[in-house]
Amino acid sequence: MTKAFASQADLADRKITFEQLSPHCWAYTAEGDPNSGVIVGERFVMVSDATATPAMARDLIARIRTVSDKPIKYVLLTHYHAVRVLGASAYFAEGASEIVASQGTYELIGERGKEDMQSEMERFPRLFRNAETVPGLTWPTLVIGGGDPTRGEKPGRLTVDLGGVKVQVWSPGWGHTRGDTIAWVEEEKVLFSGDLVEYNAGVYTGDAHLEEWPATLEALRALGAQALVPGRGEAMQGAAAVNQALDYTKRWVETLFRCGKEAAASNMDLKAAMAHTRKAMDPVFGNVFIYEHCLPFDVSRAYDEARGVKNPRIWTAERDKEMWAALQE
Ligand SMILES: [Zn+2]
Repeated sequence: MTKAFASQADLADRKITFEQLSPHCWAYTAEGDPNSGVIVGERFVMVSDATATPAMARDLIARIRTVSDKPIKYVLLTHYHAVRVLGASAYFAEGASEIVASQGTYELIGERGKEDMQSEMERFPRLFRNAETVPGLTWPTLVIGGGDPTRGEKPGRLTVDLGGVKVQVWSPGWGHTRGDTIAWVEEEKVLFSGDLVEYNAGVYTGDAHLEEWPATLEALRALGAQALVPGRGEAMQGAAAVNQALDYTKRWVETLFRCGKEAAASNMDLKAAMAHTRKAMDPVFGNVFIYEHCLPFDVSRAYDEARGVKNPRIWTAERDKEMWAALQE
């Protein structure tokens, strides 16, 4: 039997949890679907990741309105992926005036945002069932410069005062993409990591920099967070749980890349690389949410990077399908 492409067979709704992690921080999580974070100040609210569509964002907005009536002034894009950014326009009616992203994310939206939108809409039909409410690409209005090591740049930092709570926003290094940005509420030790950290869910690495990712995770560990909203999976509370999520993600990334390097070193083709990688990944991660969706994209990228492709190749809806067909039995 042919496996349905990506998440096309995943049509069951997830249960959403909106929970308070600290005096000003909330997590919006959904059993492995993309998470968002919310930071509520006395004057303004910030949302970290906008959801996939404006229709979906309105659910998050309704939850925010149970705890604050302040303008949702800042929408942070932790990275460029469509399932996290295309809901952004819904916040304009709620007082949003700044769409915040890193320089890397801004450049990636220009370079591959259109292709990514089409590709992700086909990968995730449930998340994009209200795709007609998406007005187009989401363009950042407040871009944090720096952070590109190939240009010798130190990451720029933005500190936003929401009233009674400050949020630091910066890029801790390459990983899930080359533009990943986190939000860090230092006084309350709460970290919003985007897809740099996942827990008990697939770690999508199709656009990743696997070589650099582990060091980026260590930079996050050094913050000493007491709570974490990962990109996917439940919110983690307590330092031990935060470290568990960092370890989980690191193990995925390192296992995958080691297999990719082994496959490249033995001149395997991509299909053999997939079989080789499965031997190491299936027993550890095989049961987590969207594992089967992620693995073909992940193996493709690990194999490319191991063979020296530094800049991840752009996924298009066509390339998605070709790769998928080539890697199934
Ligand atoms: Zn992502």
